[in-house]
Amino acid sequence: MLFYSPCTIFVKDCKNSLREGIHGMLKYQIPTWMQKCYKGVTWRKNTNRKVIYLTFDDGCVPEVTPQVLTILRDKGVKATFFCVGDNVRKYPELFEQIKAEGHRVGNHTHNHLKGINTPLKMYLDNVAEANQLIGSTLFRPPYGKMTFQQKRKLQREYEIVMWDILTNDFDAATSTTELIQQTKRHTRNGSVIVFHDSLKAAERMLHTLPTLIDWWEEQGYAFETL
Ligand SMILES: [Zn+2]
Repeated sequence: MLFYSPCTIFVKDCKNSLREGIHGMLKYQIPTWMQKCYKGVTWRKNTNRKVIYLTFDDGCVPEVTPQVLTILRDKGVKATFFCVGDNVRKYPELFEQIKAEGHRVGNHTHNHLKGINTPLKMYLDNVAEANQLIGSTLFRPPYGKMTFQQKRKLQREYEIVMWDILTNDFDAATSTTELIQQTKRHTRNGSVIVFHDSLKAAERMLHTLPTLIDWWEEQGYAFETL
C-alpha cells in the first residue's frame, strides 16, 4: 500500500491542486476533512473508549505471518488480517491458523488489484473470487485505490475499511524510529492502524510491532478486532 495512494483518490476527487501541499500530512494520517470526502467508509471507529484496531495487509505468507501471530499471541493481542485471496489459496492452513487464534480476516482482493486501473466487472469478480476463500464482510482496497463506482458496488456487501494510521512499514525510506514516533503521535481512540505481513514490510514491521504494542498498553489502549 503506497503512502501517497489516498492522496491520489482524494485529491482527484476533491481538488487536484492540493496534492503537493498535503503530501507530507498524508504520509501517516489522512486529515478528517479529507476522510469525509469518501463517505460510508470506515477510517476510524467513533468511540470514547481507549481502544485501537491493528490490521495487517497483504498476507498470508509463511515467511512473515507466523511471526506476527507469535508476537500477537505472546502479547495477548487480537487483530484483523486483510488477506490476498491468492495467498489464502496457496497457504490455506496458515489462513485457518489466523482465524483459529481469534483474529478476524478481511478481503484484500484475489490478486492485489489496483482498483483505478481495473474495469468494474473485473474488479468485482476478483473480490468475489477472494471471498469464496476468505468469507468476510470486511474489504480493504489494495493501495487504497478504487473508483467511486467500485466503492458503491462493494458497499452493498462489505464494510470498507481504510485506516486512521498508515505505519509506512513497507517503505524502505522510513526508519523504524520515525515509524514508531509517528505512529505514537497519531494514535487516538478508535484508530485503525495498518501494518503489512508481507516480505517487503517484514523487517520494519517485526522490529517495531512489539515496541508499539508495549507502548499502547502502557498508554491504556485495548486491542480489538474490527
Ligand atoms: Zn495491500
